[in-house]
Amino acid sequence: MDELEKIKNEVLSCKKCSLYQTRTHPVIGEGNPRAKIMMIGEAPGFNEDQAGRPFCGKAGKILDELLNSIGIKREEIYITNILKCRPPENRNPQKEELEACTPYLEKQIEIIKPEAICTLGNYSTAFIMKKYGVAGQIQGISKIHGKIFQSKTLFESIKIIPLYHPAVATYNINMKEVLKRDFKVLIKLK
Ligand code: URA
Ligand code: SF4
Repeated sequence: MDELEKIKNEVLSCKKCSLYQTRTHPVIGEGNPRAKIMMIGEAPGFNEDQAGRPFCGKAGKILDELLNSIGIKREEIYITNILKCRPPENRNPQKEELEACTPYLEKQIEIIKPEAICTLGNYSTAFIMKKYGVAGQIQGISKIHGKIFQSKTLFESIKIIPLYHPAVATYNINMKEVLKRDFKVLIKLK
């Protein structure tokens, strides 16, 4: 069995936090297992929970539009979330849930070994910037969106690009233009 498949099976039967009680389907992630670019959202919403697929509702439509605008296909990249199960009423992720769930994300990153990670929204931005030792540069997303943070250790080099969560464009139309501008930084990473 391939390594991503193994994680999928673990997540499908996971009961490490209380979200398993209210989820319909966990959302593991999908896309190219050799993607250069990985996108990490927050958590499944209603549609994702029903379908078991990431970004397939309103925010997903915007994400598709943004990817389209820079000529990247969904299948080229890998898309997942920091939490694999939907929080009831789409409430914010809790600390215990993040602690329980992020080992899955870390394994996914280890297997895929992307050149760049785009974090969509505050939760994945904070987690990834801390993980890669650029926590000192964490500021509000309004200050750091669209910037490239280079993390280099002896063993790996990875770019971290914080972006606004596409859902912001569903309630603030101007944000779509900001997101479009930010997504342009990804063109050279294709
Ligand atoms: N919002 C997210 O953060 N992830 C999804 O998969 C859908 C909406
Ligand atoms: Fe397990 Fe993560 Fe789902 Fe919690 S959110 S039950 S840790 S897969």
